[in-house]
Amino acid sequence: MAEKIYAIPVNDAFEKDCECPVCLMYRDIEADAISFTLGPSYMDDRFRLQTDKLGFCKNHMQMLYDKENRLGLALMMKTHMEKTNREIEALAKNPLKGGLFKKGSPVVDYVKNLQSTCFVCDRVKDLYDRYIYTILYLYKTDDKFREKYKKCKGFCTGHFGRLLQDASGEMSGKMLDEFVKVTTDIYLENMRRVEDDVQWFINKFDYNYHDAPWKEAKTAVVRAMTKLNSIVPPEEKKSNKIYD
Ligand SMILES: [Zn+2]
Ligand SMILES: [Zn+2]
Repeated sequence: MAEKIYAIPVNDAFEKDCECPVCLMYRDIEADAISFTLGPSYMDDRFRLQTDKLGFCKNHMQMLYDKENRLGLALMMKTHMEKTNREIEALAKNPLKGGLFKKGSPVVDYVKNLQSTCFVCDRVKDLYDRYIYTILYLYKTDDKFREKYKKCKGFCTGHFGRLLQDASGEMSGKMLDEFVKVTTDIYLENMRRVEDDVQWFINKFDYNYHDAPWKEAKTAVVRAMTKLNSIVPPEEKKSNKIYD
């Protein structure tokens, strides 16, 4: 049962002190996909054909570069560029009558399509979908998890939307109504908490608050980045806390 395999990482993420457990899961899946891309995959023809075809999005290209396996990255870049150049050249020789740069020309379509594909995004997507499914499955079937879910510190805006969207396909009736209410309540309650922390951070720049305690404000901007843009600190800090 797939749900059983994924129940462990899902439960683990919901036990961490963080602003969005789904972001934590995503970050870990993404880190594994980056390591995989620069590890066993690039010398393997099956995966190399994929990286040649799909390339990488801006975000993942930067993450691959930061991994510091420059030779591995260069090898993938070389064959991907070779293929892209060859194909664009062939398409450019046969433009449709609208002309090479007209919207809808084969070259424009090719470039647009290439810019929408990424080997790492593709690899992450399947597992990420299964994790979202597992959250909903556990919520429906596991009382302990449901309690844990209700006690978490909410979600980033993107994952809040994704949970509601997927829930409508996995639940119905009372269960769906309850899930939507619980999720919306914890989302808003915790967004307001972080909003207050950001306000307190701003206050601390006012001399009237000079001697006031920082409270939770020191980490407010980083935590607001999670809430607003799904950005979580790259490395897990000791204990269960990720924001120091
Ligand atoms: Zn998130
Ligand atoms: Zn990507």
